[in-house]
Amino acid sequence: MKALQHLKTINHHKWLVCQGCFKVGLYKQGLLHDLSKYSPTEFLVGCKFYQGTRSPNNAEREVKGYSAAWLHHKGRNRHHYEYWLDYSTDPNEGIIGMKMPVRYVVEMFIDRVAASKNYMKEKYTDQAPLEYYEKGAARLGKMIHPETAELLHQLLKMLAEEGEEKTCSYIRKYVLKNKK
Ligand SMILES: [Zn+2]
Repeated sequence: MKALQHLKTINHHKWLVCQGCFKVGLYKQGLLHDLSKYSPTEFLVGCKFYQGTRSPNNAEREVKGYSAAWLHHKGRNRHHYEYWLDYSTDPNEGIIGMKMPVRYVVEMFIDRVAASKNYMKEKYTDQAPLEYYEKGAARLGKMIHPETAELLHQLLKMLAEEGEEKTCSYIRKYVLKNKK
């Protein structure tokens, strides 16, 4: 029953993100996070390519050459830096990552922590999301705005060094203060 397993996976992910968002006071984003995963375009692909250990989008991409589910997803969910890709006002630069509003950078941080917990299960540590980010960071180039990348990196480092409780209270008190 891949459909049921997929539904369980996305429900569990959404529940983790919701808890994280509530901890920092992002109630609306917590409730609305990844809602498009329940749309037919994303849900049916998720069922068909369900893997359990990695995103079904990767499997869809290998088979079809692109992932329709991911293209649908990143076009509708502002917590993905890919949502913010747009033409630079400098015509020589082409398409680059725009600076993300801070509340979506925080949601991206929470999303990454939840995804690491979901995929790594009991092997998860507070260092895992940082390691994952640092492994891929060099490839991002201009796809992510430097200030967006810096804030994300800072939060992931704080998580690795000081843990989740401290990082969440830092986000609530300082990062999101007057920025919502
Ligand atoms: Zn998402």
